[in-house]
Amino acid sequence: MADDSLLRRTYRYRIYPTVRLRRALEAQLGFACQLYNAALEERRYAWQGQRRSVTLYEQFRELTAVRAAKMGPPNMSCSAMRDPLRRLDWAFAAYFRRVKAGVKPGYPRFRSVRRYDSVTWASGWSVRDGRLALKGIGQVKVKWHRQLPVSVVVRTVTVRRVGKRWYACFSLQVRRSPRVLAMPLPAVGLDLGIQHFATLSTGEQMSGPRAYRAATGHLRVAQRRVSRRQKGSHRRQKARLLLAGMHERIRNIRQDHAHKLSRRLVADFGFIAVEDLNVGGLARGPLAKDVTDQGWAAFLTMLEYKAAEAGTRLIRVPPHGTSQTCSGCGIVVPKLLSERMHQCPDCGLVIDRDANAARNVLRLGLSRQASTWPTGACVA
Ligand SMILES: [Zn+2]
Repeated sequence: MADDSLLRRTYRYRIYPTVRLRRALEAQLGFACQLYNAALEERRYAWQGQRRSVTLYEQFRELTAVRAAKMGPPNMSCSAMRDPLRRLDWAFAAYFRRVKAGVKPGYPRFRSVRRYDSVTWASGWSVRDGRLALKGIGQVKVKWHRQLPVSVVVRTVTVRRVGKRWYACFSLQVRRSPRVLAMPLPAVGLDLGIQHFATLSTGEQMSGPRAYRAATGHLRVAQRRVSRRQKGSHRRQKARLLLAGMHERIRNIRQDHAHKLSRRLVADFGFIAVEDLNVGGLARGPLAKDVTDQGWAAFLTMLEYKAAEAGTRLIRVPPHGTSQTCSGCGIVVPKLLSERMHQCPDCGLVIDRDANAARNVLRLGLSRQASTWPTGACVA
């Protein structure tokens, strides 16, 4: 497997293609989508007709003929043409994984050109004079709102279309840094909830972005506007872009919140215990909208890589019983979801229910680290 001290990170920048470059990018997206669908067709056909699986490398080899026949946009890089095939291969891998796990699988589907929004270059790109040079496209202006770390290996660049905007996402590998400090930072437990985005074992509560809820009304209006307008019309396309823009704004608010919160936690604590939420499972339950709204999964991913980078230890603990157990004495105090306070009849502890859960999470996390973590001294 890969080197354990390396982390994969993505840096995203807004890019400003001119009209000509945008057309070139759109042509490549369109062709990538065609390749994706053709490759899917081939795999389906081979399986239905001959019970044969087509591999990624067979499909890579077929690209040679495609390129020799000069199909596709001029000078499209080989790497960009391989990308849709690789994505399809991932889609199949995910499909077989779900089949094996007994989850409702969902066979890989044909993709619409309008929704095929990104292409990845593993090679055939470079940064020249502050511009992103892409093979078969040209040099695109980039807004470098922050520095791309030097001395790291940049693996790929993905160009993505989001509504009217375009982005370049650099995927790179950075080395984890062990944290060297005179004093160890305190440990903390985290309870993620609906009432508050996160409650710390210190008792502090952090509210969530709630962006989606707040914007639901506007979204519904925009969605209705799209469906009311005639399919294929210019006005529908315009409304569609507006809707995409709203979705993006919400996504940005949510991401911004997650970035800031995870950054703060990693700066303040040397050990973080969180519930290992089955966010996928929750997202299908009655609390679905709240769960996807809060964006826990994205938050945990950020927390994980930021912690690894900063040398903070992050431990996931099973969530069972954390809200029902008393963090003071350990007995089980059953309570309904509507009961906001934890009141222990045994030891008399009275605290917020989420803070109680966070303290249990911390205790569980520390117990898993007992041998290596200096206990007592810095448990908040
Ligand atoms: Zn108690």
